[in-house]
Amino acid sequence: MPPEPEAEAKLDLKSTLNLPKTDFPMKANLPKNEPVLLERWAGMGIYDRIREARKGQATYVLHDGPPYANGPIHLGHALNKCLKDFIVKSKTMAGFDSPYVPGWDCHGLPIEIKVDQMLGGKKLQMQPLAVRNACREYAAKFLELQSVQFQRLGIFGQFDHPYSTMTPEYESVILETFYKFFENDFVYKGLRSTYWCIHDETALAEAEVEYEDHVSPTVWVKYALQSDPAGIHSGLGEAANKSGKPVATIIWTTTPWTLPASMAVALHPDEEYVGIETEQDIFIIAERLSRATAEKCGFSAENVVARFPGRAVEGSRFHHPFLPWEERKIVGVLADYVTMDTGTGVVHTAPAHGADDFNTGVKYKIDLTCNVDAAGVLRNGLPEYDGLKVFAANHPIVELLKTRGALLHEEKIQHSYPHCWRCHNPIIFRATEQWFIRMETPMDGGKTLRTRTLEEIKKVKWDPAWGEDRIANMIATRPDWCISRQRIWGTPIAVFLCASCGDSVKNPAVNRRVAKLFAEKGADAWYTPEADTLLPADTKCGKCGGLSFKKEMDIIDVWFESGSSHAAVLGHVANLPWPADLYLEGGDQYRGWFHSSLLCAVGTRDAAPYRGVATNGWTLDEQGRAMSKSLGNGVEPVEITEKLGGEIVRLWVASVDFRNDVACSDNLMQRVAENYRKLRNTLFRYILSNLGDFVPSRDAVPYSEMHSIDRHALRQMTAVAAEITGWYDEFAFHKIYQRIMQYCAVDLSAVYFDILKDRLYTSAPRSQARRSAQTAIWKIGEGLARLLAPIMTFTCDEVWQYLPATAGQAESVHLTSFPNASELLGSAGKGEDKAEQDDWAALLQVREEVLKALEVERTNKVIGGGLEAQVKLSAPDPLYSVLQRHEGDLRYLWIVSATRLEKAASPNGGTGITVQVSKADGLKCERCWNYSTHVGEDSAYPTVCERCSAALKEMKS
Ligand SMILES: [Zn+2]
Ligand SMILES: [Zn+2]
Ligand SMILES: [Zn+2]
Repeated sequence: MPPEPEAEAKLDLKSTLNLPKTDFPMKANLPKNEPVLLERWAGMGIYDRIREARKGQATYVLHDGPPYANGPIHLGHALNKCLKDFIVKSKTMAGFDSPYVPGWDCHGLPIEIKVDQMLGGKKLQMQPLAVRNACREYAAKFLELQSVQFQRLGIFGQFDHPYSTMTPEYESVILETFYKFFENDFVYKGLRSTYWCIHDETALAEAEVEYEDHVSPTVWVKYALQSDPAGIHSGLGEAANKSGKPVATIIWTTTPWTLPASMAVALHPDEEYVGIETEQDIFIIAERLSRATAEKCGFSAENVVARFPGRAVEGSRFHHPFLPWEERKIVGVLADYVTMDTGTGVVHTAPAHGADDFNTGVKYKIDLTCNVDAAGVLRNGLPEYDGLKVFAANHPIVELLKTRGALLHEEKIQHSYPHCWRCHNPIIFRATEQWFIRMETPMDGGKTLRTRTLEEIKKVKWDPAWGEDRIANMIATRPDWCISRQRIWGTPIAVFLCASCGDSVKNPAVNRRVAKLFAEKGADAWYTPEADTLLPADTKCGKCGGLSFKKEMDIIDVWFESGSSHAAVLGHVANLPWPADLYLEGGDQYRGWFHSSLLCAVGTRDAAPYRGVATNGWTLDEQGRAMSKSLGNGVEPVEITEKLGGEIVRLWVASVDFRNDVACSDNLMQRVAENYRKLRNTLFRYILSNLGDFVPSRDAVPYSEMHSIDRHALRQMTAVAAEITGWYDEFAFHKIYQRIMQYCAVDLSAVYFDILKDRLYTSAPRSQARRSAQTAIWKIGEGLARLLAPIMTFTCDEVWQYLPATAGQAESVHLTSFPNASELLGSAGKGEDKAEQDDWAALLQVREEVLKALEVERTNKVIGGGLEAQVKLSAPDPLYSVLQRHEGDLRYLWIVSATRLEKAASPNGGTGITVQVSKADGLKCERCWNYSTHVGEDSAYPTVCERCSAALKEMKS
């Protein structure tokens, strides 16, 4: 709208306009300018300054879940850390002392595997300490890299003092947490069938197992009944086996390699089983599966010669399909887990190679020996398969079954099979000696660890709410926690074992000494002779009286380590109390960190370590596919930061509904960048460019004296601020993003700022009219900088530096609080102008109608620009009275040169208003471009209107 200079003579008039002017750059150049801000913050010690400013306030603690230090950050990290930063910063601006201590998970298999690969054969000759040093260097390198990358995104936190699971202090906390379990009898060492990766040669936790598709050979195998085949005890009945044919059962398995370890056949106690007579045999199988089995094995299920419940077979003896009777006697056992949905209703039982099988083995006192070594090689078997790896042994074992006439059917199935989440190889169950935390350990008050944990889950606020069921189901059904790993890079289970009987020394005084040593020298100390000296020389084994001891060299599960973070970080200083207010991680942490932290805290403190748990979804591409190298659909936060700015990554995080899986692509990032430019220029830059001569202490207009529409704008801003702070409380950042984009584009740019231009540009600079508008946009700009600072961390602080200075103004927007109603509206604005609020609701509706009418006449070519028009409004009461109250403002509201108002007799439909648009009377003012019948009346300024001549006189005086 400001007139362009057309000729020399008119330049003079143009110079009398208050045209927008600011040094706040239109082009953000974020990749270059963000690092400058980072330096500024570092220079002023922003994080410590915030702590200082909030000292003594109520605390809000978001306890950081430690990312794994083995690579640069990816989009999932960026999403998670930005969300945490939004929460921490918004809680801070809401008045809380909300410290943020970032953490890193540094021990564990992935780093050890990487270091293995880097060291190659060299590792074999290295001492454990040298390997641990190599691992530590590797982790430290990525911890440092990730720390820089997180800070580059504008994340504030105690980055100069993070927590890391590989520091001596932290390692001693892990050990003390373990000792609490150990000394209170939660811990036992025992033979168990656990997940085992034969590639990495270690036990795996539930949380370290992923299900992937796998093709397995499936076999139906005959186990001949040895005891009483005439059919007395097995329930075949007196008349049943008149034929004298041999009796056998049929088992079904997808792991033929477990057959050498087969010790029993399990039947369901209550299901009905049948004896089916075929040409050569009588087969015992479940009635419900008899037809399917008969079809597969090629016999008819017609000739049923007996029916009995599964329990009738308990204690019967069967022949192993290929091992001799002298060596292996298969026993009939009962198990509730035998299902009737697939197979034969009879399963072979290899206690060494299955969790259920193992429990059945213990119950029936069956040999639990495992003949598969750590590398997955079968030992002590027949020459056909001895020395082969488990999966390679499948084929020769199937062949062996054929030659023994025991194979009734064979096929391949594709099914979901457990794989190692680190190396992605299929894993097995293997019975080994491991350390466990017993879920049924009774605690104070007589309840078990499992029960107490389930009770604590109910006290936590889970967000989304389904999280509660998810974790409760996991805790309710999980087996004992296998906490030992047979690796080097971690925290050793620092316990002394009797060299003769293997029993562990349970001496709290010794434990304290070990923990102290760890605190001073780190867990490395366990690998030095110094640790040996901690056991008093006269120690005697409590079980066998043995006098010689060795150190347990297994390390502890990394989930136990990170699960101890609450104890390492919280409860030591005043503003980091225990428990945390919030844990926020990806949904996979229900079985990971949320889970292990909960068990660690309930086991040692009888309470959950958090009051609330929130989860974010996965990052996917626009088509909903996971990001992968092969698809080339990955979005790297570091790349986006270098190309578009860290602020764009932050704004993208705010734009998505993080509780669901979230979409990202270069395309979407570009769209966010466009929206960023709108916020930067049409919002902040517009405001700043009109405040160049505004000194709040001198020029600010009290609310009660402001123009009505300026008060309306401030009331609207107050409502937006209330909505936004409410959404911060709900972590509904995507709603904030949507609202702010709409507020900026519609309420401000298209309406208020548009209306203001005439007043801001053409009024005398120091006029009340202009100062009123400046006061309003200053409060809006200043308020929005504070409201959006948790999300637009860089830009809001940049804006802050360009805002007119006020007395005692904070050095950074991050040292301020959210704006509130009394700041925006003053004491006069607290609901006292209800009548004016109602007026504005009506006026803005009328505006819509007038704009429509103007558009019609513009199309009819009656008018060109709006200023060429005048409007005649005719309205009945009560609308007429509203319009009358604001009569002087009406022409500015729809930006025409004049508006006349008439009272209509009665409502004539709709709002009862009629709008007539015609060409404006008078001449065009060369200064403000409005038409006026008064142009030329002032001889001093013959080409301008009466408003402009007044303004020019005011400026002159
Ligand atoms: Zn593995
Ligand atoms: Zn002993
Ligand atoms: Zn004018």
